[in-house]
Amino acid sequence: LKQKPRIEAAGEQLSGVKSMIAIASGKGGVGKSTVAANLAVSLSARGLKTGLLDADIYGPSLPTLFGIKGKPEMRDNKIVPFEAFGVKLMSIGFLIDPDEAVAWRGPMVMGALRQLMSDVDWGDLDILLVDTPPGTGDAHISLIQSKKLSGAVIVSTPQEMALADVRRGVQLFRQTNTPLIGVIENMAWMEGPDGSKQFLFGEGGAERAAKDLGAPFLGAVPLYPDLRQASDDGLPVAATEHAAARTFDQLADQIVK
Ligand code: ADP
Repeated sequence: LKQKPRIEAAGEQLSGVKSMIAIASGKGGVGKSTVAANLAVSLSARGLKTGLLDADIYGPSLPTLFGIKGKPEMRDNKIVPFEAFGVKLMSIGFLIDPDEAVAWRGPMVMGALRQLMSDVDWGDLDILLVDTPPGTGDAHISLIQSKKLSGAVIVSTPQEMALADVRRGVQLFRQTNTPLIGVIENMAWMEGPDGSKQFLFGEGGAERAAKDLGAPFLGAVPLYPDLRQASDDGLPVAATEHAAARTFDQLADQIVK
């Protein structure tokens, strides 16, 4: 019988990848994928060879965020990642049916992740961002076990309900000695026509939680209705003149600092 390759072996396959960073969140819908996609575009615009791996088994959104349809090609028995805005892109959504994956158990999640890491021709990358499923589960454990993870970023909205999950995320990465790069607060406020800020989900909750936990706070992304529209249209705002592009550039600087 042939032994299953272990996840460490998948990590070894990523020899051309200098650093791999997990983008995590406690809950779904906080904008983790949106933030990951825009950070990737900003990092690439900074001249860094960047990849984005969408490992959100239960809700892959990279195909929508970058407007990509169809299946990736194979070359020399490897999956060729798509490329858009200078970012190499691969999503679990290209390989599996998310409706089926809902019932997946740990080993299957791990197998799918292993495939995304070892069977994709990532080539040489300065940085590979991994958009992980919400919460702290099998995908995170697998990434940590791959021994390739150089750090983690946690995305949260400001309200108390989301913050409890930030604490859990911080704990997981601490317990496994994964460097916590920091916390990003998304949908922090909405700007009124007069420039006033409306704190829809409370003010500065993620920043406070980060401080309480002794985790670095990287910055806040406001809620922009046209950011949502652009994301649905497959255009990451980081590649546009939108005000949010500057915010993502600053966050990208913090991540590589
Ligand atoms: P998650 O990955 O945490 O599930 P998504 O990135 O899919 O969340 O975002 C959920 C929804 O919120 C999407 O429709 C997205 O376009 C929208 N969204 C995320 N961040 C913002 C923001 N800063 N302003 C406006 N809409 C946002």
